[in-house]
Amino acid sequence: MGFQHPDISAFPEISLVIGEERARAGSGADWAHVYPGTGRVTREVRLASPADVDRAVAAARAAQPAWRALAGDKRRDLMFRLAAVIESKAAEMSPLLTAENGAILIAGGHMTADAAQKFRYYGGMADKIDGRTVSTWGGPALDYVMYEPYGTVGIIVPWNGPLFAATMVMAPALAAGNCVVLKAPELAPWSLMKLMEAVHEAGFPAGVVNMVTGGPDVGAAMVSHPGIDKIEFIGSGATAQKILASASQSLKPVGLELGGKSAVLVFADANLQGAAKRGLSGAISASGQGCVNGTRLLVERAIYEPYLQMLKAMAGHVKVGDPFAMDTFVGPVISQAALERIDGMVRRGIEQGGEAICGGAPMDGDHAEGYFYPITVLAGVDPASEISKNEVFGPVLVVTPFDSEEEAVALANGTDYGLGAYVHTTNLARAHRVAGQMMAGQVQVNGSGEAMTPCVPFGGMKHSGHGRLGGIEGLREFQQVRNVWVNLQD
Ligand code: NAD
Repeated sequence: MGFQHPDISAFPEISLVIGEERARAGSGADWAHVYPGTGRVTREVRLASPADVDRAVAAARAAQPAWRALAGDKRRDLMFRLAAVIESKAAEMSPLLTAENGAILIAGGHMTADAAQKFRYYGGMADKIDGRTVSTWGGPALDYVMYEPYGTVGIIVPWNGPLFAATMVMAPALAAGNCVVLKAPELAPWSLMKLMEAVHEAGFPAGVVNMVTGGPDVGAAMVSHPGIDKIEFIGSGATAQKILASASQSLKPVGLELGGKSAVLVFADANLQGAAKRGLSGAISASGQGCVNGTRLLVERAIYEPYLQMLKAMAGHVKVGDPFAMDTFVGPVISQAALERIDGMVRRGIEQGGEAICGGAPMDGDHAEGYFYPITVLAGVDPASEISKNEVFGPVLVVTPFDSEEEAVALANGTDYGLGAYVHTTNLARAHRVAGQMMAGQVQVNGSGEAMTPCVPFGGMKHSGHGRLGGIEGLREFQQVRNVWVNLQD
C-alpha cells in the first residue's frame, strides 16, 4: 500500500525566472523528481542550462543600477510586502516542502514563517544602511566609510532546506542593494518555485530576483560567470572545493556555509530530561539531514548509562514514517543512495565496536518503498572512528562518555568541522567557560536549535565554512566597503 504520494496538481509551474520571463522549462536536460517517501517520480522538470544562466545574469545586471539606486524605504516596503505574501501562501507552501524532499508536514508552517521573518528582519535594515565617519591622523581631513552592494550575487543552495537556505541569503543580499540569481536544486525545487510566485506578487522589479532550476552544471556556470560578482554557496565541502578551484581563476569572492558534525556536551549537572530530549530531537530533526544537527553526544560518565536509557526510551516514542502524517517526527532521507551510505556508515560503526542501542538497519514494510532509516543510537563508539568524525546525514547519533571537562572540550573540537556545539549544564561558570572554548560558529547552551532565527549570525569555522548569514554580519556579507578621504586643507 505504501505512504501517501504528493498531489502534483498543486505543484508550481515556473522553474525559470529571468527578468520579465517566467517559464515552465529551461533549455537543459529533463529531470524526473523523485519523492523520497514513496521512491516514485512526482513530475519531470526541464532544467536550466548554462545558456539560461547567461540570460539570468544579463537580466540581473540590467536591473542592478535601478535596484541599487532605489531608496532604502522603497526596498524595505517591497521586502515587507514579500514577507506578507509568503505568509499568505503558508498553506500552499507546507505540502510542497514535504513533497520536495520528504520534510515533515508539521514543520512546514515554521519554515514558511521563518522565510517571511527573514525578509522582515532584513527589510528593516534596508532603510538603515548608514556609513560611518572615521577619525583621521595627520592634517585636517574628513574620512568616511560607505557600504556598497557587490552587484549581482549568485546563490547556490542544497536540497535539504532550500527555502531556509535561499532566504537566508536572498534577504540580506537584496536589502544591501544586490540583484540575485538563485539556483533551485533539482532534487528539491518546489518551494523555491513557490517563492518566485511570491516575489512576483510582491511587485519586485523584473530582473532583481532571477531563478534557474538546475544541477551541478548550472551551479558551475554561475561560479565561473564573469557577470556574477559574488557567490554564496551552501552545501558540501566536496563541492566547495570545486567552487573555490573555479573562483581561483576569476578571484570572485565566495561565501561558504558547509557541513558539520556538531558536538553535544552533557555534563552530570545538566537537567537530564531536558538534555536527553534536546539531544535526541536536535540530532534527528529533518531526518538527521541538517547541517547543524548535534549528532555527536558526549556524556559525562557519571550519567552515561541513565542518559542512554533515556535516549532509548524517548526514541521509542518517536514516529518514523509518512511525512504527511501529523504525528510523524522523522520522515525519509533524500534518496536510495543516501540510505545506502547511511547504512554503510552505521554497519562500519558497529563493526568498529559501536553498540546499536536502537535502530541500526533499514526499515521494512511500507517504509521499504521509500527511503526510511530508523532512529539509530550508537553507543561506545571510538571518537576517532569514521562515524564519529564524518557527517552521516541521517537520523543517526553517536554517544561517547567523557571523564573531565578538559576531555569533553578536546573531543568536541576533535573533528575537521566547526559549525555548531551544544552545551548542557546548570553551572553558569562552566557554561560560559566551555562555550568560549568551542571551535564552532554557533554555540547553544541548554538549547537545540532555538537560536536559528534571522537575527543571529550563523556559519562555520574550519571545514564548516566561513562568513556569516543572519544578523548584521549577514548584511555585511553582501556589502563591500568604500573608504573616502577628503583633504580639508587648501
Ligand atoms: P552538494 O554540495 O552536493 O550540492 C549543493 C548545491 O551545489 C546543489 O544545488 C548542487 O546542484 C550544487 N553543485 C554541485 N556541484 C556543483 C559545482 N561543481 N559547482 C557549483 N554548484 C554545484 O550538497 P547537498 O548534498 O545538496 O547538501 C548537503 C550538504 O549541505 C551537507 O554537507 C550539509 O551539511 C550542507 N548544508 C550546509 C548548511 C549550512 O548552512 N552550513 C545548510 C544546509 C546544508
